[in-house]
Formats: sequence, structure tokens, C-alpha cells
Amino acid sequence: MIQENIKNVEAKMHAACARSGRKPEDVCLIAVSKTKPIEMLQEAYDYGCRDFGENKVQELVDKYEKMPKDIRWHMIGHLQRNKVKYIVDKVYLIHSVDSLRLAEEISKEAVKKNVTVSILVEVNVAGEESKFGTTSEEAITLVEEIAKLPNIIIKGLMTIAPYVDVPEENRLYFAKLKQIYVDIIHKNIDNISMRELSMGMTGDYEVAITEGATYIRVGTGIFGERQYTTV
Ligand SMILES: *Cc1c(COP(=O)(O)O)cnc(C)c1O
Repeated sequence: MIQENIKNVEAKMHAACARSGRKPEDVCLIAVSKTKPIEMLQEAYDYGCRDFGENKVQELVDKYEKMPKDIRWHMIGHLQRNKVKYIVDKVYLIHSVDSLRLAEEISKEAVKKNVTVSILVEVNVAGEESKFGTTSEEAITLVEEIAKLPNIIIKGLMTIAPYVDVPEENRLYFAKLKQIYVDIIHKNIDNISMRELSMGMTGDYEVAITEGATYIRVGTGIFGERQYTTV
């Protein structure tokens, strides 16, 4: 089932690339495995997935210990500063950096562990109150400040678009993130390597690809609906 789902997503990714004149290898599918058991991740791994996304530090660390070591782990959820130390040497990319204080903590822990951490700056392009992320207006200043920190490298931008029934409604937000990305590239800031746009989830990844996504984050479309137990 999971492998069928991935094939399905890949076919749609390829079609979206074809429609927008992009190369399929320029878009990376992240299997968002939060709340899902190891057996399901293993199934995706056996199919060939090597990029997995988690949104909780403890869960990411647990799964990191249990799964093969060639996996690239993506931290996609809100990150608290006191938990940074547990993941700096385990994650491939942190997508959710939205403040200078958080970036400073990542930098500090990265220096301690003698690693360089790749990050994306999360931008709340739709301005939704319920969401984390820096504002579109502050994004460039934040990038300039983070770029000065040691052992941290900015690879691009990330956004979580609103939940909508009609994916086309999110096109303007994806276009806006791309525009901020282009503006940042034109500023020629030292120490950054703007290449990645992490945008698009199960409901809207095809639209995101046609607007330039390089990472799409797909959970439900691969692993099925998530069950959250109420605590
Ligand atoms: C859960 C989550 C996803 C995946 O959402 P689906 O709609 O299940 O594909 C993507 N990005 C982030 C940041 C998430 O928290």
C-alpha cells in the first residue's frame, strides 16, 4: 500500500515537472512519517525513500536510532531551543528556523559538536496567526543576521501554506516564497547558499512544484491519515 502510494506521488511529481519544464531530479520527496510506526517507515525505505520528515525531537531521535544510517532526517516542526542539542548532529536539514534566537542556539550547539548544520528559514507567507514562521517583511533581515553565525548554513526557505480544499488557492503563497528567495539571492549575502524551496504537502504539492519547490513534504499521501491520541 505504502509503496503504491509513493509510486502514485512520484507519477504526479513527474507530471507536474513536465508541465512546468523542470527536471524530476530537481524535486526531492520527503516522506513525512510523524506519528507512524517504524514498520511503515521501513516499507518506504525498502521502496527507496531516503528522506524522512519528523516534527518532534523525541520521535526523530527514536527513529534515528532504529532506522538505517543512510537516511537523511528532516526536522520540519517547530523547534524549541532547549531541544536543539539532541538533534544538531542527527539532522540533514532543519526546515523550521524562524527566529535569530533559535538560529543562535543551533549555531552554539553545532560549534560544540563540531558540525555544520544546514537550515531553511521558515516564512509565514500567508500571515496565518496559528502558524510559526517569520513574516515576509522580516525574512531578508533574519537571513542576513543568521548568515553571520558560525557552523550554520542557510540553504533556502520553507513555508507551510494554509489548509485549503482547492490547491490552486495556495499558488500565490508559493509564488511569494519564491519571490522572497529570488530577492535574497540578488542581495549576494555572504555565507549562504540559496538553493532550496521547501513547499507543498499532500494537498498541494503539484502546485508547489510548478511554482519551483525543490522539497515537497508528503505525509498523508504516503502513509495515510494520522491518528492523534488525545492526552
Ligand atoms: C505534517 C506535515 C506535513 C505533511 O502533511 P500532509 O498533509 O500529511 O502531507 C508537511 N509539512 C509539515 C511542516 C508538517 O508538519
